[in-house]
Amino acid sequence: MKTKIQAKFKELYGDGARLFASAGRVNLIGEHTDYNGGYVFPGAIDKGIMAAIKPNGLGVVRAFSIDYNEASEFGLNEEDKPAQAWARYIFGVCRETQKRGGKVEGFDTVFAGDVPLGAGLSSSAALESTFAFAINELFKNGIDKFELAKIGQSTEHNYCGVKCGIMDQFASCFGKAGSLIRLNCKTLEYKYFPFEPKGYKLVLIDSCVKHELASSAYNKRRASCENAAAAIRKNHPEVEFLSDAKRIWLEEVRADIPEEDFLRAEYVIGEVQRVLDFCDALERGDYETAGEMMYQTHFGMSKLYEVSCEELDFLNKLARKMDVTGSRVMGGGFGGCTINLVKDELYKPFVDAAVAQFTAKFGHAPKVYDVVISDGARELK
Ligand code: ADP
Ligand code: MG
Repeated sequence: MKTKIQAKFKELYGDGARLFASAGRVNLIGEHTDYNGGYVFPGAIDKGIMAAIKPNGLGVVRAFSIDYNEASEFGLNEEDKPAQAWARYIFGVCRETQKRGGKVEGFDTVFAGDVPLGAGLSSSAALESTFAFAINELFKNGIDKFELAKIGQSTEHNYCGVKCGIMDQFASCFGKAGSLIRLNCKTLEYKYFPFEPKGYKLVLIDSCVKHELASSAYNKRRASCENAAAAIRKNHPEVEFLSDAKRIWLEEVRADIPEEDFLRAEYVIGEVQRVLDFCDALERGDYETAGEMMYQTHFGMSKLYEVSCEELDFLNKLARKMDVTGSRVMGGGFGGCTINLVKDELYKPFVDAAVAQFTAKFGHAPKVYDVVISDGARELK
């Protein structure tokens, strides 16, 4: 990828470019916890975006996407929004940097990536954080890393029509090889934990399905969580978000809320605790316990929160049957990937069986992505 990018840059714009990169992400545990003020636990992966970039003194951005084999040229004012969807991520990052008082002048760039698009690994965050980081370095703006993540998030909100949380851009900006990052979504405090599972691999099995219920179901889940939190708050005013509640406090209001809301809340409160238990396990280097937590999360998402689907439950069940260490649906649910922590010797049998059996049952093959927890936004020297 690097040589291709450098050669194309040289062909289009000449010498002297600097190289920057950032990463997609996975979330090991902590799902549907973000909007409940709980923890998420992501890490950057060894798949990302790489960009050669150099100021051009022309007051415009000239960008070339290798993967789309397409060029875009745009100015730096609000009315200059480019037509191509991919270019809007770069434009948005420029504009959001400017809104924060950062200097952005014209530049040339050639970029490419290897994060599968729309598979739940956040290729868009990789793209945003590559440019947020690069622009900050090139024009010496001194914007801190958290604000760089927010630049990416605001780009999604204001230029790409996606009302996302902060996790993806946070993971992409803060990611470090061999570490996961526990982010408290209420306070935005974060902490690194070691994740170097020697003897294990992380592999995603992509069901390649996306069930349409996702957004209406998501709104209903949120409403249930807010309803449960409001009921608990009557007894315990300190409960701002559902994640602040203890399990027994939920028990106290069981008769006052619909059974469905109770189950949703039971999942969320359990999931917040599981993130903490998962972190404890990692600090002991106990990947077997960590893996068990992943199965518990899958169970909760499937049976209590009810955001899994037949394809994902099938993959999860197969993992369990084959003694895979940990497995669960990753992301919002209703499709997408399972993330699996699997012993080296079981990797091939598991992946082969998952592909064969899934294909036989659902009529299309799943995709398989190996991931290694790696560095996030950085300059490549
Ligand atoms: P994801 O879940 O992978 O973030 P999104 O739909 O949010 O999916 O973002 C995908 C979009 O990001 C693509 O449609 C494209 O506009 C942009 N993008 C991601 N990776 C690349 C790339 N390698 N080259 C050009 N554009 C990219
Ligand atoms: Mg995205």
